[in-house]
Parts: sequence; structure tokens; C-alpha cells
Amino acid sequence: MSQPSLRELEQHDAFVGRHIGPNDAEIATMLAAVGHDSLEALTDAIVPALIRSGTNAAAAPLALPESLTEEEALARLRAIASKNQAFRNFIGQGYYGTHTPKVILRNILENPAWYTAYTPYQAEISQGRMEALINFQTMCADLTGMEIANASLLDEATAVAEAMTLARRSARSKSNTFLVAGDTHPQTLEVLRTRAEPLGLAVEVARSTDAFHQKLAAGDYFGVLVQYPASSGWIADWSADAEAVHGHQALFVFATDLLALTLLKPPGEMGADIVVGSSQRFGVPLGFGGPHAAFMACRDAYKRSMPGRLIGVSVDADGNPAYRLTLQTREQHIRREKATSNICTAQVLLAVMASMYAVYHGPEGLARIASRVARLTAILAAGLRRLGHATVHASAFDTLCIEPGDAGPAILARAREARINLRVRGNGSICISLDETTTRADVETLWSVFAADGAALPSVDALDAQAPSLIPDALRRTGPFLQHPVFNTHHSEHELLRYMRALADKDLAMDRTMIPLGSCTMKLNATAEMIPVTWPEFADIHPLAPAEQTEGYRQLIAELEAMLAECTGYDAVSLQPNSGAQGEYAGLLAIRAWHRSRGEGHRDICLIPESAHGTNPASAQMCGMKVVVTKCDASGNVDVEDIRRAAEKHSAHLAAIMMTYPSTHGVFEEDVVEICEIVHAHGGQVYTDGANMNALVGVAKPGKWGSDVSHLNLHKTFCIPHGGGGPGVGPCAVKSHLAPFLPRAGIPGGDQDDRTSRGGMVSAAAYGSASILPISWMYVTLMGATGLRKATQVALLNANYVSKRLAPHYATLYTGRNGLVAHECILDLRPLEKATGISAEDVAKRLIDFGFHAPTLSFPVPGTLMVEPTESESLHELDRFIDAMIQIRQEIAAVEDGRLDREDNPLRHAPHTALQVSGSEWTHAYPRELAAFPLPSLKLQKYWPPVSRVDNVHGDKNVFCACIPVDAYRERTA
Ligand SMILES: *Cc1c(COP(=O)(O)O)cnc(C)c1O
Repeated sequence: MSQPSLRELEQHDAFVGRHIGPNDAEIATMLAAVGHDSLEALTDAIVPALIRSGTNAAAAPLALPESLTEEEALARLRAIASKNQAFRNFIGQGYYGTHTPKVILRNILENPAWYTAYTPYQAEISQGRMEALINFQTMCADLTGMEIANASLLDEATAVAEAMTLARRSARSKSNTFLVAGDTHPQTLEVLRTRAEPLGLAVEVARSTDAFHQKLAAGDYFGVLVQYPASSGWIADWSADAEAVHGHQALFVFATDLLALTLLKPPGEMGADIVVGSSQRFGVPLGFGGPHAAFMACRDAYKRSMPGRLIGVSVDADGNPAYRLTLQTREQHIRREKATSNICTAQVLLAVMASMYAVYHGPEGLARIASRVARLTAILAAGLRRLGHATVHASAFDTLCIEPGDAGPAILARAREARINLRVRGNGSICISLDETTTRADVETLWSVFAADGAALPSVDALDAQAPSLIPDALRRTGPFLQHPVFNTHHSEHELLRYMRALADKDLAMDRTMIPLGSCTMKLNATAEMIPVTWPEFADIHPLAPAEQTEGYRQLIAELEAMLAECTGYDAVSLQPNSGAQGEYAGLLAIRAWHRSRGEGHRDICLIPESAHGTNPASAQMCGMKVVVTKCDASGNVDVEDIRRAAEKHSAHLAAIMMTYPSTHGVFEEDVVEICEIVHAHGGQVYTDGANMNALVGVAKPGKWGSDVSHLNLHKTFCIPHGGGGPGVGPCAVKSHLAPFLPRAGIPGGDQDDRTSRGGMVSAAAYGSASILPISWMYVTLMGATGLRKATQVALLNANYVSKRLAPHYATLYTGRNGLVAHECILDLRPLEKATGISAEDVAKRLIDFGFHAPTLSFPVPGTLMVEPTESESLHELDRFIDAMIQIRQEIAAVEDGRLDREDNPLRHAPHTALQVSGSEWTHAYPRELAAFPLPSLKLQKYWPPVSRVDNVHGDKNVFCACIPVDAYRERTA
């Protein structure tokens, strides 16, 4: 017997075989089931030759290294991470040090029960994370003093931009100007300008208080923004200004800080209409800029035009309180280009962390943290004054501003030596922001940095007795906040641990079941990919840290950009957008800017096939483009002739086509190259929505078949977990002619500013959600060129296997060449609904009784389920899902032939709770056992939904978006 070679033995523990669900023997079985001999043959049968790598010189195989083992990849990344230097940060400007409670770090941020969950569209299996988000909403509403708050936005700067457009939608003023008080974070001003310009709005910045008051009195604005506390630290009562703003039929927007608001008079008591900010300093690491959850709170009157997601309380079929996404759920899919925003993926995981931080510390704990920060700030100020540095402003919460004059350079040199980062502003003033992590020793170090040589340093204890508070009495918060029991119960670690576990246990995430959501690509988020995210070398870097401290991040970013360019065939990549929709926006802005640079700024028509994801038209609208919808043919393909007609008709004004490839109908259109040619011939650009890249990596490259720009969803194809609805990263990848128009990486003149890009910033931080980029870097490194291609091929195989095995039971709506689907298949439930009254939604809910998360419901075709198994699901898991679907089909057949009642059957009443099936009373026409254990395997392993079917209509009619009333809450937790 020949013994295996060392090479072969070394191959054994390759990551590729862990990431890809089926092993080679199972792949062979599945190939036989779909009627092909090899993965290559299957790929050839599915993917049009014109675009396929290998067959077309333009689409060469991936020029990426071969796979590394987990240990090798982590060691490489360690070496990169160690090139970052974590200085003590006093930069502030929207990003502050914070202690992530370890119990939250490990049991939320590092816990797959939380990070592998999906956006809570299926309410019954998402009650746990929705409770956490209701806590977030309650926390934001309470602290800001507003009536209602949403469950996270992408970052503070984009939240301000959303507030601006909400104000424009809601204000009666006819002005097109948004007035901004000058002392606002610079990144906020940048993003505001980017967002305002294509909409024809003007951002007017009042550089001084006098200028602000003059403009305020003049009244030419629809909205006014102030930062409270101001970017350089001072605090003021804006109540009188609110009256002026309202007198001019405009809305008053506050950008604020949640920690400060535990001590300060809330904006809601000063006449605010909309309040936004970041919840980062509630326990979420700096991470070189993100991901962090922003929030928006507003008056109740504006709730129906609020952007982002809102969790509401409704009732379930038994009348018990149950959470659900309310109002604008999937709003873009319904309202398309008239949608209030393009936000789809937001920052759920980070919002959950921030809410748990508040649950853990409670109102007193938060106020104590804030008071310590405020006290240290007051002591620091008093000491600086002794050292000859008067602060510019008399009031402060955590930030002081100093005008050091000639001493500036020496101070900055000493700071560098002490490994301290300070904020230096354009006018030479220096700002110091303190935070939860600041110690007495830090304050002493800061004094030594500011002290002239030989000067005696003050003492913290001595100054504590003397330093006056910097918060004016009139600006102190007087009312209570976070009174709800949830914020006053779980303060011991055991209590919080169990609360978080109890919530996680209510939910289905990928740690329990496949989540076969078409278009969402819920693939493995490998532990080795996740581990680097919380390394301090990545977590503790301020986004505005000097470039020489962020060498590791720069290398990581440059390498990942190159990997993604290679996978897509484009020339340049921006990692700034922090969601897919944000990437769409950045890409369309680049197209718009390119047309303008050629004197063709009048081009504003964007063709979008009717099958497109709702964010596409919503993003086009935000770029000031007009959407022209094109048709799809009977087999689900985009209709080339309709595109040709539309391109001809709008030839002079054609800006772009936005198409998803392979389409959201799950097919590889043969005509994609021709479509690119048609659009180019009429002067337009081709935008390919890359959300379906999981069907393409290693097989075909959009940048090589004629597309000009794509966004990717790293939280789909490249393994960043969905986090229950965010974070995400939506890189924008472009051909070279568009590269100069990508978002600028950093505030102009700032340290991160890369001057090669001319585009405006679309996110607050230069590299968006930088701290989760290691996940995608790890994925590509672990898979290598061959592994990535195989992953795509198995994704195609898994989808076809599901479609084929379910074919006798459910029709797949659209197929492409050779009767095959791409990486997902649409199961058409409409004929069954016609015959039996059983809807796709009933099937989705019945799957919960089998312990499965439903496939995508009614997108892109109403009345259907779209299944995307991904390459990570094993044959065993696929068969488990298929068995459940077949069993459900048999139940539908029983309804069809009268063995089950048309109304009183387990499908219509699904899902079934433990309470229902174990209740003394059982009135249904079908047995309890069928309700709860429709397959024998469920007797060994059973998921019980905490609520029965949630009433959507009741929820939208009775919008209630805060923690449930105390009595009902007590009843549930007693
Ligand atoms: C997921 C998805 C998007 C939006 O991505 P987000 O990250 O949620 O903003 C856009 N288009 C398609 C086809 C998608 O599947």
C-alpha cells in the first residue's frame, strides 16, 4: 500500500472543505441528481459561454494565491494588525473610547446566535432581537426626549443627511436651504454636502454664532441643524432658536451624544423635531470608524416618513404582545423610487450592543459614567488654566478646546511622545475629548503635555474640590430616563447573561438552521474569520488617528481592495459604503460625476428592470436620476428589446442602466453583453448590482463583460455576518474611467484624505465599517483562487439540487439555459394558493414549526418563495429542508383533497407555540402532534416559537414602538 505524501497529508485540514458544506462524495451524488458529470460541466451548462472565465480571454481565472489554513491566515493577519499602533485617543469628533462590557463582547459581538441572525422580517422567530431593538428605540427616545426612535441608521453623518431629507419632506417651508450651525463634526458637513447636491438642496454653514443668528432670523431654510454638544465641546440652550425655526415653517434637527444626554437637558425639551447621533460610545469599539449604530428620534407626527427600520409592538394570533418590523418594512420594494430612503441593511448588531450596555448599566450607571467624564473634564480644564491654557468655551461636557498659539507644535510633539492623539483643527486650536476609559493618570499625562518645561503639575484630588462644573445649571437634565424595568433589572452579570441568553433562545439564527434566503446569501460566517474583529489592534483605532499609526489597516484595506478588484474584474474599489444600498449610491454618484466631467450633466435617465431590488430605484432617486422601468419576459429575463427601445427613446438623456446579474429571478441572462453594448452605444453607463456575486466569483467577472460599476455586499458573498440586519459593507467597484469619482477617503485636508478621488464622502469614516473588513480578507485568504471558484460552483449545485428535488412538489418559476437555475430558485406557490387558499406566507410560517427560517417571501415575485441555499449548506441540511418542504406539500395536498379543513389546518395556524399545543383546550380540527411534530425528527430537536402568528395589520394601525407597558412586561417576566 502506498502511503500518502506529506503534501497530501498537509492538505487534509484545508479550510475550503469546512466552508463548503457537501464533501466530494456528496457533490457527486448531487451532480447525479441534477444530471451532470462534474462541477465544470454543470458550470458550463449554467453560465453563458460569452462571460465565462476560461472560455473568454477577457475573463481569466482568479489571479489570487492558493488557500491558507486557519492558522496560517491568522498569523499573516496578526502580522498586519501589529502594524497598527493604538495610541490613547482624545480626538473625539464623534468617536470615543468605551469599555465594551466583557459579558456583551463575548455573548453578543462574538456570539453566532446574535451575529448570524437575519433582518427580522419573519417576526415569530425574531422576537429576541426585536426586544433588544425595542430597548434601543426606547433608550434613544428617552435620552433625546423625543416621542419615537428607530432601530438604527448607518452612522451619525448619514443620519444627519437622512434628517435633512426627512425635514425637506415634512417642512412646510418652500426653501431649498438646510442651515447648519458651523461647529458641527466636519465629516457630517462632508456627507451632508454629498447628499444635498444631487437633490438640488443647498447646505449653508454659518461659521459664527452671529452669522447663525442672522441667517436664522432671515428664515430662508426648510431645516436647521445644530450639534449639541458642539463639535468643539460647548453646550447651549437652543430653545429660543427653536421658536424662530418653527416660525419659519422649518424643522429643527439636533445631532447629539447619548452619554451627554444622561446629564443634559434633552433636545426634546428644547423644541427639537428630529434628533440624530451615534450610539458608538455605548460599548461599541472605535474600530477605525465603524461599524457603529446611529439613531434617529423624532416627533410622532413624522413616524410614517422616517427612514430605516422601526420595530413596533403588535399582537399575535392569541392576542399576546409580539414585536414586528412596522410601517416602512421593505418600503423600497413597494414604493421604489418614491421610497423615503434606500436604507436596507442598517446596524442592528451594534444597536443591540448599545442597548445591552444601557440595560447593564441602567440609568444610574450611565449617569455615573457620564458624571465621571464630566468631572474629569472639569478637573482637566481647571488644571490647564493653571498651566496657562484657558479653554475657549466656558461650558463643556467632555470636550475642551484650547488655542495654544506658539506653544502648539511643542504640545503636539510631546503628545506624540506620550503616545497620545489630540484633535487639531484647521484654525490651529486643539480639542481634547475625554470618555469612559479616561483615567486620572490620563488627565495628569495631558497636563504634562500642555505644561511648559519645568512647570509644576496640578493635582487631580486638589482640583476636584475646586474645579467648578462646566455644565450650566440651566442645561442640566431634570427629568428621569430609562425608568422601564428592563433598564433596572439586569445589572448583575448573571442577570444580564441570562437575559441575553433568553432573548437569543427565542430566535432562529444560522447557529441552529440554514437560512435559505434568496438574494441575501446567508453563508457560513466562519469563526476564524470573526476572531480578528475584536483584536485590540483593529478594535481600538480611532478613524482620525494619524496615518503612521494605521499602517496595518492601510495594508489590510489595500489587499482587500485588490482581492475584490480581481474577483470582479474592475480596476478600483472603495470600501467606504457601509451597506449595499450605500454602495449603489456611491456607484451612481460616480456615474453622474463622470457624465458631468464630460459636459453631459444633463444625462439623468436610469433604466431599471422591473425585477430589481427596491434599493436600486431608491438609490437612483437620491442621485437625482429619473427611473425608467423596463420589462421582463415570460422566462424572467430582462427584456432586451424593451431595453433597446428605452435606450433609443432616452438616448440623449441616458445616464445608466442598473441591472442585477445573475438576475433576482435567479437566471443568467444570455444577453448581458449585448445589453452593455446597447447602453454604451447610447452614451449610458452599466451598473451591475453585485448582490448576486456569489453566483459569479471565480466563474465570471462583470468588469470584464462590459459593466462599468458594481457594488458588492461583503455581508453576503464575502462572509460578513448579517448581524440581524447589519452591519454590512457595500464596496463600490469601478472601471478605471470612473475611479476618480469614487468617494474621497477622508475629510479634505485631514490625515486620511486621499487626494486621488474627487467624489464626495458617502459615509462618516474614510473606510466605512473598517473593523469588519478582516472577515472578508480572511475568507478570500482561506479559500484561495481554487476554493473561491469551487464555492461558486457548489452554490450553483446546491440551488439546482433543491430545485430538482422539489420539482415534483413545487414548480420553479424561472430557469435559464438547460432548465437550470443560478444560485437561487423561485418556488411558485401561486397555483397552490389558487387551488387551496394556502399562501406562500402560510408555508413560510409552517416552516417555523419544522425549525426552519423561511426563504425570501414574495420578492421579487409576489406569492413565491425564493430559496438560496449557498455552498455552505451540507447535503444533510439540504435534505432536511427538502423533507420539510415535501411534508408541507403533502399537507397542502391534504387541504386540496379535503383531508384537512381549508381554514382550520396546520398551515393557516402556523407557527404553533408550546403554550398552544400543551394547553388544556385544543379546538383545532387537526391533531396537536401534527401541529408540533410534523416529522419524527422534530421529537429529538424542536424549536418553539415564543409567539404565534403576528398580526401585521394591527401593528400598522396601532403603531407603538417602545418597550411594552410595565404591567404587561412584569406579567411576562414574573
Ligand atoms: C441585499 C441587496 C441589496 C441591498 O443591500 P443592503 O446591504 O441591504 O443595503 C441590493 N440589491 C440586491 C439585489 C440585494 O440582494
